[in-house]
Amino acid sequence: MPLSDRRLADTTDPQPAEASAAPSRKKAKADEKPKPAVKTADKLAKLGLKSDIDLVLHLPMRYEDETQLTPIGELIPGDVAQTEGVVFDNEIAYRPRRQLLVKIHDDSGDELTLRFLNFYGSQVKQMAIGTRLRVRGDVRGGFFGLEMVHPTVRPVDDDTPLPQALTPVYPSTAGISQAYLRKAIDNALTRVYLPELLPEPIAREHLNPLNVPGLLDAVKTLHHPHADSDEHAMIDGTHPAWTRIKFEELLAQQLSLKRAHEERRTRAAPAMPRSLPDDDASLVTRLLKALPFALTGAQQRVVAEIAGELTLAHPMQRLLQGDVGSGKTIVAALAAAQAIDAGYQAALMAPTEILAEQHARKLRGWLEPLGVTVAWLASSLKAKEKRSALEAAALGTAKLVIGTHAIIQDAVEFARLGLVIVDEQHRFGVAQRLALRAKAQNASDGARDFQPHQLMMSATPIPRTLAMTYYADLDVSTIDELPPGRTPILTKIVSDGRRDEIIGRVREAALTGRQVYWVCPLIEESETLQLQTAVDTYETLVAALPDLRAGLVHGRLAPAEKAAVMDAFARNEVQLLVATTVIEVGVDVPNASLMVIEHAERFGLAQLHQLRGRVGRGSAASVCVLMYANPLSQTARARLQTMRETTDGFEIARRDLEIRGPGEFLGARQSGEAMLRFASLENDGWLIDPARAAADAMLKSFPDAVTNHLARWLGAREQFLKA
Ligand code: ADP
Ligand code: MG
Repeated sequence: MPLSDRRLADTTDPQPAEASAAPSRKKAKADEKPKPAVKTADKLAKLGLKSDIDLVLHLPMRYEDETQLTPIGELIPGDVAQTEGVVFDNEIAYRPRRQLLVKIHDDSGDELTLRFLNFYGSQVKQMAIGTRLRVRGDVRGGFFGLEMVHPTVRPVDDDTPLPQALTPVYPSTAGISQAYLRKAIDNALTRVYLPELLPEPIAREHLNPLNVPGLLDAVKTLHHPHADSDEHAMIDGTHPAWTRIKFEELLAQQLSLKRAHEERRTRAAPAMPRSLPDDDASLVTRLLKALPFALTGAQQRVVAEIAGELTLAHPMQRLLQGDVGSGKTIVAALAAAQAIDAGYQAALMAPTEILAEQHARKLRGWLEPLGVTVAWLASSLKAKEKRSALEAAALGTAKLVIGTHAIIQDAVEFARLGLVIVDEQHRFGVAQRLALRAKAQNASDGARDFQPHQLMMSATPIPRTLAMTYYADLDVSTIDELPPGRTPILTKIVSDGRRDEIIGRVREAALTGRQVYWVCPLIEESETLQLQTAVDTYETLVAALPDLRAGLVHGRLAPAEKAAVMDAFARNEVQLLVATTVIEVGVDVPNASLMVIEHAERFGLAQLHQLRGRVGRGSAASVCVLMYANPLSQTARARLQTMRETTDGFEIARRDLEIRGPGEFLGARQSGEAMLRFASLENDGWLIDPARAAADAMLKSFPDAVTNHLARWLGAREQFLKA
């Protein structure tokens, strides 16, 4: 496509361009027909369409090809097709249910039935016998021959021309027809003033190499595909006109995230000086000395990154990512120690009670011998325990408070909270993270725009493209090395026909002093069924392995019961732990070296990786058995093979992204996600780098253009980002 500069003077437009008259003309129209116009305007506003620019940027979500007619005799069941014929029968049938059956035939005498289960009287009339209809829909091979259920129908003449180009289909809402939207958009297109906002040097360096059309040109192409434009490219979004739009959008996203990042530098946070390595009074030093292991190189690096940033008087907002078992907890503990050394409190929030409890146990083990009081807060606490935990947090005697979301309840106050740590952060919503952050006001010492430092941890490694778009406003530290002495996990894929053999392996492992996880099948449709299955599995295994001490843990257990079972497992009093996916995150029992996952084909890759990460934490050779039931679909087989081939979380995440798309990776309300309407990370990841480079250059030299670009592309959406 040529880089055209036709802009508003485009003479191919059906109506003359009237750029400057836009607002007054719109008003005049509304005045003529007040009632329906107001109503529809409300509906349009619901779609976020308030101005002409909104309308012209309301781009098709897909296209329909109405340029071809298929003779009825050539329709193929399963295809979507358009055909024409004359109505020769029109009746309302009552069996098996009330429905309208319209039959058409064409000149060759081939017949097609149109079936409507919901219909209006007006439709019956519209399709009266003798009317010529153009219909489009799914072709089905019905009991009485070919049929279409609820096709789109249009009465036509013999010589009604076919559209020359693809027909756009817009995202809409009930009450706004495609025809109305099309018209509103077309009108807006004739009036709109849509100047290029990219400053010339930015366009030259970052946009022109992409070889895409001008903005208005691109928008027009997308609303009115040229008859000769590449239909596939239009439909799958690879057409240069789409590329142009996606670039604009990704640029807006990058600008917004980066600006949020810069804006943080204007806020205040407690400066927490680093202690000198030989300062024996410092908790950091004492903790390091007391550890039974040396930090890995990767851990030392991220500890230094975090420690350096904590010394600054601006809020840190850092994502610590590291594969399961990479040792994030000690990194968090060292950050907390630095905060405590500086006279502040730290809080650690985890998404499940099992995980929070485990953090509490581990961190208490490290810190309490050094004289630090750690408080534990969860909803399951007895009133008395809870009161004393609340008191310790409020008085500041507890230097570290660990808990579930119980930690963000109103009753919880901190004397001097300076560092907030969130584990498995993608499991929390923005609001919850903000709530925790808000608890730090007492530590502000009167500073305005105060915010505590935040460390967010995630064991779900995020592929680079995702991290760049979703977390461009965060700094990222990555632990890319596992602690030494771990033997790689051997993964086996086994049909559940060999269950007895596997049970034998479980017994052997237990007899040699090892512990075993048995993960119950996931039943997404029904929690009750899932629970029942877990109980059944437990009973079957107990019967098959009477000489083993077994425990059962699932989501419906009371927190205290759950904790009791997990404790028993941690102390090796339970040898075989039958569990649902509640053990998925964070559970750390190094002596467990065999995991059996039943119906592994039902789990997603990321989930399997998380589960498998529960073994291979000690020195014993670990095995993960992925048991599957036949028949196994192609994709399920591919997933299981991926698990066998690699234990690298990043590689698994990358393949998972290919299979599932990014939506499921991150909590639904992750920052960057809400901003993308057109670009998708699976298909358009290659555009992120150029968009990012353009964003950097624009922020540096063209602040006004940044503001304008954001207003055009994000408008109200940008507020999603402020977390
Ligand atoms: P994750 O990153 O999955 O949260 P953890 O922090 O739970 O991992 O660490 C996994 C296990 O490895 C824990 O038992 C932890 O004490 C241990 N560990 C952490 N760092 C090291 C290290 N440098 N050397 C040996 N073991 C370590
Ligand atoms: Mg962890």
